[in-house]
Amino acid sequence: MTRNEAIARGLTTYNTGKPCKRGHHSERYVSTHNCAECLRERQRAASPNTVEVVFPSFPAEYVAELRAYGEALRLTAAMRQAAANAG
Ligand SMILES: [Zn+2]
Repeated sequence: MTRNEAIARGLTTYNTGKPCKRGHHSERYVSTHNCAECLRERQRAASPNTVEVVFPSFPAEYVAELRAYGEALRLTAAMRQAAANAG
């Protein structure tokens, strides 16, 4: 299915039948074009110190990328919290 077909049917996800750049055969989000499995990996990576445990076979540069993404998420959350506390 193409993204346009999914839009025409009012779906939020679609599956092209082709792997994403990470090799996942997963559905993609109409709104963001993102692979759902890539998103799940990033969400898991947002937990501190879990990347190597969850993804022991990942290439080092991808682990570093996931770690950086998780760090950015935590920083954003911390900044939001600080802003809320500042009132
Ligand atoms: Zn993917």
